Amino acid sequence: MSILTYRYRIKDATSGTHLRQMAGAIHDVWNYCKEVSLLAFRRDKTWLTAYDLHKLTAGTSKDLRLSADTIQQVCTEYATRRRQCKKIKLTWRSRKRSLGWIPFKAAYIRLEDDTITYCGHRFRLWLSRPVEGGVKTGSFTQDARGLWYVNLQCDVADAAAPVGQLDLGIDLGLTHQITCSDGVQYSRANLTRRYEDALAMAQRAHKRRRVKKVQATIANRRSDLTHKATTAIARRAQLIIIGDVSSAKLVNTPFATSTYDAAWHRVRTQLRYKAIKLAGVCVSGREAFSSVTCSGCGARCGPRGLSGLGVRTWVCLCCGLMHERDVNAARNILAFRSGRATPSKGIPVLEGGEDVNTLLNIQECLRV
Ligand SMILES: [Zn+2]
Repeated sequence: MSILTYRYRIKDATSGTHLRQMAGAIHDVWNYCKEVSLLAFRRDKTWLTAYDLHKLTAGTSKDLRLSADTIQQVCTEYATRRRQCKKIKLTWRSRKRSLGWIPFKAAYIRLEDDTITYCGHRFRLWLSRPVEGGVKTGSFTQDARGLWYVNLQCDVADAAAPVGQLDLGIDLGLTHQITCSDGVQYSRANLTRRYEDALAMAQRAHKRRRVKKVQATIANRRSDLTHKATTAIARRAQLIIIGDVSSAKLVNTPFATSTYDAAWHRVRTQLRYKAIKLAGVCVSGREAFSSVTCSGCGARCGPRGLSGLGVRTWVCLCCGLMHERDVNAARNILAFRSGRATPSKGIPVLEGGEDVNTLLNIQECLRV
């Protein structure tokens, strides 16, 4: 079983009023937790636990017009985050500036077609696709533009047998966002560059709503492109090896904008969970020397260094094969597949000769 989060936009403009009221009450609960925890620390040098906060907030659900479970979840969240961040107090949540967040459990909502009922209020959704599996928990959230969404975390059954048939190596890059070892390439749109004039104009004119809209357009389009590419790959492949290229150094160079557009981390995360859902395997593979090594004979005679970055196609001096730079790198990542970055927790190093069944067995063991 996988747990997937389905996100739907809430339809009615009027429902925003109810959600804003509830979110305001949640900010009050959060601020109360903050004040009372600080008081307890200053007076008695003790840290209030989530259990203490539950007792202190008991019986307030009627006045706050929230379910008791939601109030408990907010208290638990406060105690957990304060402990994780190792701080005496967390940030005050403002009714005006902080974004809304209303957590709930499945028992407190009713979902019928495109309508969700919570605390006596009915909210209609843009049901872009049906909700699969059973809802376990969820939340209402607000984005920077003030739009509301509902996130439903559902138990979804995985496919019984691998849906895809291929073994694919994946090279992540900037010119082509994703290149597969079978030659299929997914290009990224230069979204940040395309919208930079519109963004700069709105920022100079101090039009805050316009700025947020442009930023949301960039984020949505980037997310859409990445989801389409990763779904297509996960459906085709039963074994996916992704190169372990890191974006950490590139974001401090002139390539920073392109690196953010390429969204490598998001591609990796999506391929991993989509592969699990379709009964495939997705692991990281060694990326070093993948672009200078010939995937035909293994000689390291490809274009090197900064001057070689612009070379898109090259011919191997040893065997005479012609290579497209990124496709050659993706083939090498698939061929190397020995593991500097194999899955953790006692997984043996995968040698070049391991077959797909071994990898499938390893994943089965991990799930158990
Ligand atoms: Zn060669």
